[in-house]
Amino acid sequence: MESIREVFWNVPEGPWIVYTLAIVAVLIFVYAIVARFWVVWRRGKPEDRFHPFWRRIGAFIKTGIVDGLAHKRMLREPYPGIPHLLIFWGCVFLLLCAGVDFLSHYWFHSWTGGTPGLIHSLISDIGGILIFIGTIVFIVRRYAQKPGAFQERLDRSSDDLITVILILLVVVTGFFVEAFRIATIGPGTQEAAWSLWSPGGWIVGKAFADSSLGTLLTWHRILWYVHILITVGAVLYISLFYSRLNHIITSTANAFFRNREPKGALVPINLEEAEFYGVGEIGNFTWKQLLDLDACTRCGRCQERCPAYLSGQPLSPKKIIQSLKEHLLEESHYPFLTKVPQTSLITAQPEVAAEADPPRALIGEVIPEEAIWSCYTCGACQEICPIYAEHINKIIDMRRNLVLEQAKVPELAEPILSCIETRGHSCKGTTATRTDWEQGLDIKHLSEDSQVDLVFWVGCQASLEDRSVKIAQAFAKILKAAGINFATLGTEESCCGDPARRMGNEYLFQMQAVKNIELLKNYNVKKIVTTCPHCFNTIKNEYPQFDGEFEVIHHSQLITQLIKEGKLKLNSGINKRITYHDPCYLGRHNDIYEPPRRVLKAIPQIDLVEMQRSYWNSFCCGGGGGRFWIEEASGERISNLRLEDVIKTKADIVATACPFCLQMLEDAIKAKGLEESLQDLDIAELVELATHSSS
Ligand code: SF4
Ligand code: SF4
Repeated sequence: MESIREVFWNVPEGPWIVYTLAIVAVLIFVYAIVARFWVVWRRGKPEDRFHPFWRRIGAFIKTGIVDGLAHKRMLREPYPGIPHLLIFWGCVFLLLCAGVDFLSHYWFHSWTGGTPGLIHSLISDIGGILIFIGTIVFIVRRYAQKPGAFQERLDRSSDDLITVILILLVVVTGFFVEAFRIATIGPGTQEAAWSLWSPGGWIVGKAFADSSLGTLLTWHRILWYVHILITVGAVLYISLFYSRLNHIITSTANAFFRNREPKGALVPINLEEAEFYGVGEIGNFTWKQLLDLDACTRCGRCQERCPAYLSGQPLSPKKIIQSLKEHLLEESHYPFLTKVPQTSLITAQPEVAAEADPPRALIGEVIPEEAIWSCYTCGACQEICPIYAEHINKIIDMRRNLVLEQAKVPELAEPILSCIETRGHSCKGTTATRTDWEQGLDIKHLSEDSQVDLVFWVGCQASLEDRSVKIAQAFAKILKAAGINFATLGTEESCCGDPARRMGNEYLFQMQAVKNIELLKNYNVKKIVTTCPHCFNTIKNEYPQFDGEFEVIHHSQLITQLIKEGKLKLNSGINKRITYHDPCYLGRHNDIYEPPRRVLKAIPQIDLVEMQRSYWNSFCCGGGGGRFWIEEASGERISNLRLEDVIKTKADIVATACPFCLQMLEDAIKAKGLEESLQDLDIAELVELATHSSS
């Protein structure tokens, strides 16, 4: 005798009921997706997110199948991440099994007979068990656990409860259907042995072992109907309501269309052709930016890592996304229920905007201006977001609108932008020139000799700011000690444009970029090194947008290479406890985490300790996104919060690889009166100490 998988056992009318309901549910589901695309996402401007198509397909398969097994971003937070993965894989198993059930019912009968059928039953039950465990953990975490710091970010909306209850009921009723069938099987029979291949139903079935056959058959039929109706109800709920469950579709699409450009690069504006600059109303976003809003699951991971939010400033990346989403739905008049949980909103607004309500202004009413200016572009939100939302481009697009369309610039930013425009640097008030730091170092300029192997792009900070010039001096000495034939642009160097771009002045940025690219090309420059991660990111990742292709390396990479090649000897030890602060534009935006650490580890006697928040999880110093010049209007200074992380390591020195981070940390050290016990140094200064002492 061969085992047969009994899908419609005791329910002879089952097939037509299931397939009729399935067809209706699928049609409604497809209609809802098309309506969503047509009414909501299509409001956005065009954007090519299909190319490179095959690389996208490959990455999508890798993310969905390979990474899906252990979605790396999800597992950065194991507590919610693991149950989510259990539910994800449980659903995949169940959907595959349902597909096989359908195909084998009409055509491929052998798929559900004998050993394949038993394996099929096992996989299906494993899927159900995974979902069961995952949903229980979610319910306990969300509704039963005492409120803790992490729970601040959770929305306890009715939608969330309905979502987990629906998922849970689908699998629980499925187990009961199986259990009533298995309980009718007599002990010691071959069929009883086969029932072990359905472990979920087998365990539940033990509870009904003593029930009469009539009772079991009746309850089996009842539960079968309940199971089917709940399953179809779940599909309709996904289709007709703007529920969290929608992310099954939207976040999958978002993962496919995710950014494939360098992480640190902002999207350029075509200044000549654009009809308006930046985003001043919801339809000014691109369709992909609108899809981002739709895909957000309100998980709160971004908010929990946002330095602006954590320091008490009026910005939460999650709230930005959710408020934009609510506004999008108001404006789109999506034909189905468009309710978004109120706990997500920045401003208190009616749950669903009435038809007659005048449209709200995107900037000012939906998103407060202070929120737009509070971002440090640190990338912490994007790096943790499991659905690959891109917060920074949206915030910068709104800044662009404020600056270029409405001529609104924060008071403290205005003189910096003017300084870049008129003097070519961002160091307002300085009387120094770009070459003062070179005194006594005999630095060559490209105007004197362009036949060099390397151009040292010094950057405004390291050329002109008192504290940062020491980085340029130390690095120049290192290059000389290693025998590198290099030159600088001297007084011809001009601001790379990063502050202007991050402050929303795309026009000024592009002027700087075009001017610098032309200059570098005139000197036939091939390779550039910089000590500043902002210059590094801009020249490496953003100048190619304007036909400026150069090989760009950061000094941490070059020093590592020189040490490895034996061109730089670090013989003199530094017997200190050191911790390293990852600059956002080096780490998160460019994935350069190890080279600075390798440099530090190469210095004899250094005791390198990590801060709790390091690598991708590093905490911003407060100097990015133009915020170096714009003081925090409210809340705690970010650099003070970062200093707390440093202090916890009991380090004598905090090392970094960015002049902005160095200045921010130095200010925090002074503010706390720790100058005697804590030093901040760039890795170049430490290396120079180690080489200099040995000579
Ligand atoms: S980039 Fe940084 S500061 Fe800006 S919203 Fe994201 S986490 Fe917050
Ligand atoms: S934007 Fe991403 S990280 Fe933030 S709440 Fe939405 S899904 Fe979560």
